[in-house]
Amino acid sequence: MSFHDVVVIGGGGAGLRAAIAVAETNPALRVAVISKVYPMRSHTVSAEGGAAAVAADDDTLDEHAYDTVSGSDWLCDQDAVEAFVAEAPRELLRLEHWGCPWSRQPDGRIAVRAFGGMKNRRTWFAADRTGFHLLHTLFQTALSYSDIVRYDEWYVTKILVDDGRAYGVVAIELSTGRIETITAGAVIVCTGGCGRVYPFTTNANIKTGDGMALAYRAGAALKDMEFVQYHPTGLPFTGILITEAARAEGGWLLNKDGYRYLQDYDLGTPSPTPVLRSMELGPRDRLSQAFVHELDKGRTIDTPYGPIVNLDLRHLGAKLIDAKLPFVRELCSKYQNIDPVKELVPVRPVVHYMMGGIHTGIRGETSLEGLYAAGEVACVSINGANRLGSNSLPECLVFGNRAGRAAAVHAGRYRHAVPPAIEAQGRDEVRRLTEDLTRHSEGHERIADIRTEMQATMENGAGIYRDGDSLAKAAEQLEELRSRYTHAAIDDHSTRFNTELIALLELGFMLDVAESIIACAHRREESRGAHQRTDFPARDDERFLAHSLVRRQPDGTSRVTYLPVTITRWPPGERVYGR
Ligand SMILES: Cc1cc2nc3c(=O)[nH]c(=O)nc-3n(C[C@H](O)[C@H](O)[C@H](O)COP(=O)(O)OP(=O)(O)OC[C@H]3O[C@@H](n4cnc5c(N)ncnc54)[C@H](O)[C@@H]3O)c2cc1C
Repeated sequence: MSFHDVVVIGGGGAGLRAAIAVAETNPALRVAVISKVYPMRSHTVSAEGGAAAVAADDDTLDEHAYDTVSGSDWLCDQDAVEAFVAEAPRELLRLEHWGCPWSRQPDGRIAVRAFGGMKNRRTWFAADRTGFHLLHTLFQTALSYSDIVRYDEWYVTKILVDDGRAYGVVAIELSTGRIETITAGAVIVCTGGCGRVYPFTTNANIKTGDGMALAYRAGAALKDMEFVQYHPTGLPFTGILITEAARAEGGWLLNKDGYRYLQDYDLGTPSPTPVLRSMELGPRDRLSQAFVHELDKGRTIDTPYGPIVNLDLRHLGAKLIDAKLPFVRELCSKYQNIDPVKELVPVRPVVHYMMGGIHTGIRGETSLEGLYAAGEVACVSINGANRLGSNSLPECLVFGNRAGRAAAVHAGRYRHAVPPAIEAQGRDEVRRLTEDLTRHSEGHERIADIRTEMQATMENGAGIYRDGDSLAKAAEQLEELRSRYTHAAIDDHSTRFNTELIALLELGFMLDVAESIIACAHRREESRGAHQRTDFPARDDERFLAHSLVRRQPDGTSRVTYLPVTITRWPPGERVYGR
């Protein structure tokens, strides 16, 4: 058993920012950063487009806040949004001071680009490799604090809780198979999203919702899980993202007739700019929904990897593409064998981001004492029913910082003895994992089969459009998959890098996450943002201007309740959905 004052689960943007905040707040504290992959391989590294924060004189915090609130279909908490927009510029500047090479205008000022659903240009970028530079900057900054200790390639299987309070985690060292109890005065969950619950996603293989399930199993509530974002432009087959920056720089979406079909849809873009200029920059939920309508009208193009439309960048020219979208050109060439300077890029909507997550307040606090969460795994919420592109990276920074500070204060106050119950829980977890390995050695179900079926169930039951029947069917199928999971087979009995065991544990977490998405989606009988019910096509503020909270019951089933949305200055307004 080892002890640290604060344990951070996750070495991505949120986790590293949180760890630095703990070290800055109280240099006497020892911080552990536990990550299932080497931190620089966290999904943050793949972010391309940029990070939103007010930078220019002709932009205001209120406008950033309003765009975020209306983009969220009024489901975000406005106190969280106000804190977010106020602190985002400071966070991005701090990153600059730590060495982040933001792209600049010829006169030396920070360059900003337009992004979907944003009224003004406020997205800072480092070419189209923003996440890479951001994560590098955080990583090298974290290295300068000797009290930040890293557990690279350790996999957390359990959060230890006694009497409503978190005391640490149990984790497996992947290179040896050693299982260890790591106790702490506070735990911060920064494990990212859960796109892998779906079959076609931009998310890395590691994004399996572990932290959401860990917190859920520990007794914390998950919030707004029904809101799953589809990004309108993923490459067919691989799901690799073609960043919104491609449209921000002037790219067009064309249907099979070469027609800019978005002009036929009401995208509710909160922008006074002429529709023809702003339509590709409508919010992601509406662009993905417009694709489905084009499909219904027979105006998409069939390919072996499903229906697609085309993204046209050719008119931007090689010079602009190489300066501002070099990674897009590289991805298209490597993974699609096309050159966007000369050819159309085939794209289709792809699962991209989880608006829901662990229910937290604006300091990252969860419903369990000593347990905090930040980044994509958390739901503060600033994203509500639909996240605006480029708000997520600054969210990781602002709320990673806030959670780190709050956890540091908590851990500083309770430098404590670990209760005997926690030691016993640690031993039980070691026993459970060892027994699991033995029991699953006799299993007969393939892990990959269950995972593939779960993903298909989610796409069919809770895709861009859902209804009561599809969701009820998905719930039944997940129950069946859950029982098959108990018979999943493990053939690898080695202790060193047993990736099969990890795949089994990840699948268990994903089933929890999938069930909570379905449970919340089924209960929400309205359409809002990314949650579109064909049987309840209208937004219903009377009943559902509220966050859904899902908690695990002692018998393993889930229970959904509702929590009012915090409204400070922007009463709910109309956001008409186009067909
Ligand atoms: C392709 C792509 C492009 C994007 N582009 C943008 C963009 O331009 N702008 C923007 O604002 N947002 C963008 N996003 C969204 C944004 O990048 C993410 O939401 C954000 O980076 C998430 O950061 P995070 O720190 O919360 O999680 P991650 O970066 O996903 O890190 C999660 C960490 O948790 C660890 N972990 C997970 N489970 C366990 C476990 N069981 N045990 C131990 N460790 C664990 C992982 O090892 C990892 O270190 C993009 C997302 C994708 C997929």
